[in-house]
Amino acid sequence: MASLFQKNIQELKGVGEKRSRLFAKLGAPTVGALLRTYPRDYEDWSQPVPLAQAPAEQACVVRVTVVSPVSEQRIRSGMTLYKLRATDGRHDVQITFFNNPYTKNLLLEGKEYLLRGKVTGSFLRREMTSPDFMPADRLLPLRPVYRQTAGLTSRQISAAVRAALGMLPNPLPDPLPEPMRRACHLCSLRFALENIHFPRDRESLEQARRRLIFEELLVLQLGLLRLKSRGRQQTSLRLEVDASAEFFRSLPFVPTSAQKRAVAECIANMRGDYPMNRLLQGDVGSGKTAVAAALCHSAIASGMQAAFMAPTEILARQHYETMRRFLEPFHLNVALLTGSVPAAKRRELLAQLRQGSIHLLVGTHALLNETVEFRQLGLVVTDEQHRFGVAQRAALTQKGDHPHILVMSATPIPRTLALMIYGDLELSVLDELPPGRQKTETYVIDSAKRARAFGFIRKKIDAGRQCYIICPLIEDSESDMASVTQYAKDLQEKWFFANTVGVLHGRMRPAEKDRAMEEFAAGRTDILVSTTVVEVGVDVPNAVVMLIENAERYGLSQLHQLRGRIGRGTEKSTCILVSDAQNEEALKRLRVMCETTDGFRIADEDLRLRGPGDFFGARQHGLPELRIADMSADFALLQLAQGEAKELLVHDPAMELPEHRGLRAEVRQLFSALE
Ligand code: ADP
Ligand code: MG
Repeated sequence: MASLFQKNIQELKGVGEKRSRLFAKLGAPTVGALLRTYPRDYEDWSQPVPLAQAPAEQACVVRVTVVSPVSEQRIRSGMTLYKLRATDGRHDVQITFFNNPYTKNLLLEGKEYLLRGKVTGSFLRREMTSPDFMPADRLLPLRPVYRQTAGLTSRQISAAVRAALGMLPNPLPDPLPEPMRRACHLCSLRFALENIHFPRDRESLEQARRRLIFEELLVLQLGLLRLKSRGRQQTSLRLEVDASAEFFRSLPFVPTSAQKRAVAECIANMRGDYPMNRLLQGDVGSGKTAVAAALCHSAIASGMQAAFMAPTEILARQHYETMRRFLEPFHLNVALLTGSVPAAKRRELLAQLRQGSIHLLVGTHALLNETVEFRQLGLVVTDEQHRFGVAQRAALTQKGDHPHILVMSATPIPRTLALMIYGDLELSVLDELPPGRQKTETYVIDSAKRARAFGFIRKKIDAGRQCYIICPLIEDSESDMASVTQYAKDLQEKWFFANTVGVLHGRMRPAEKDRAMEEFAAGRTDILVSTTVVEVGVDVPNAVVMLIENAERYGLSQLHQLRGRIGRGTEKSTCILVSDAQNEEALKRLRVMCETTDGFRIADEDLRLRGPGDFFGARQHGLPELRIADMSADFALLQLAQGEAKELLVHDPAMELPEHRGLRAEVRQLFSALE
């Protein structure tokens, strides 16, 4: 099978150069890739209806015997009709094809066929025009429907797949080891490939799907676990000094007990024999940065350097300022590295980093550059990790000798899901907010009340406050840009002519985004009209209102994330959800937002109401794209695959055993797109 991935699709009969390009567009440049291009649906040919019961305006399957030869009738140049008659035993049907001489050889008098199409005409004269057909004795009740591309029909793809199946070697090596297949009740690769494309029946299709989904999830989990498997290496970077008490004393506030617990859990890890590999989850405002600072401080006190990576330049800068403030009492050298640091300054900074005189380096992706070398990198912190690809995180840790890793996430993912996505990361949770926070009030209104909401916003602005307005548009699309800009313009002209209105959306260049965010942070814009790009945002404590248009379009967790942009100061904040949704389910979800500000409760509600799709779906989590598995729908198989992946790696961490070679090749293949 692996070698079929080296076979160009042109080796298939009937696929020339031109068509091979179409296959490549479909994601199948090779024979192997074609076999792994699964149907998106199936046509059911297993329930033929009598002609008399064919529905009026809908395709159906009938089972008929041809009772005439195919007659040929040229009606004008370039147009020939092919006609024949058939019967289901009680009624006749007239069948017509256009310009299809092959029908003469394919539809033979006296033989039985299944036809699929619309039955038209009256009961006196039933007709079918260009139906799909197949011999009734061909046992193929479910026909595959492939995702098409211009110039390539599902039928053509299906024919190519049939040819490709014929090229499978015999016996076909199966990447899933036999004992695993037996233990998990999984069919063989050959059976799976044959039946995913041309199912013998529903059960066989189900077997095939189950096996292929499992295989894909297993490969995914193996890849993830292997990326993290350096965690099993003994660490040379054991934390010698637990300086956290000293750090806590230096803070201008009293740490929450959740913060203290998280720091203690991390420090215990870092003092152990293996590097820490931990996810720190905490709701917005729960004080994750202070936890990170405590760990950086202790790591540095033990003679290591630390790195802190954030997904955007402006976030990096904010973290840099915060870290500097936290570490100031200890006279530590904190530096900032982003794409916009000038060359000379950058050279100097990199030299200091190599010498070890910079203790903590905060920055963006710029940290991943190969010129960035540490003397003794002992701790890597990444913020908002779902914005980073798996491979990017791995690249940063390679700058040290198995450094400790802390991943911070403000997305309150239910624990079970977190463990799935993050594999063997351990989990610390900040489930407590610092005292004295004002709860953000949340209201749902319909668009008829929008004018009043704008009035409320104007009062806040007059009092010197700022406001976010979120427009629900498809990120990064053209229409997105147009409508956010248009919205902002209308707002400015009709409602807020005396104020400044800023715009932020996914189509802006990073520098433009940063500028828009900075203007807002500095208080020079009163209202920021934005898409959801603002959700990984910068602290603007003066922003106390957020109005979200078409709020029903978001998942609860995303609404929560957005809402986290306000309520960061001492003043009470207000979140206004605008929605004209009529359906009870949507309203129920929005009401949850009004009732609670607890991110984990919201995440659980979301999981209950919408399933886990929201966590895996729209969110970028840096995982490779899957062909058949749907992590939300196939949750049970995901769990099974994860268990098997762990087990396998315990016995064969490098996947070197001959029986694991096939899987190793697949892991490489799946993750190659990420590198
Ligand atoms: P997040 O978890 O969203 O990253 P931050 O680390 O940005 O939260 O903290 C939010 C704000 O709360 C910061 O201004 C921080 O200094 C402050 N803070 C953190 N911990 C405490 C605490 N225990 N008591 C009071 N304020 C705190
Ligand atoms: Mg933060």
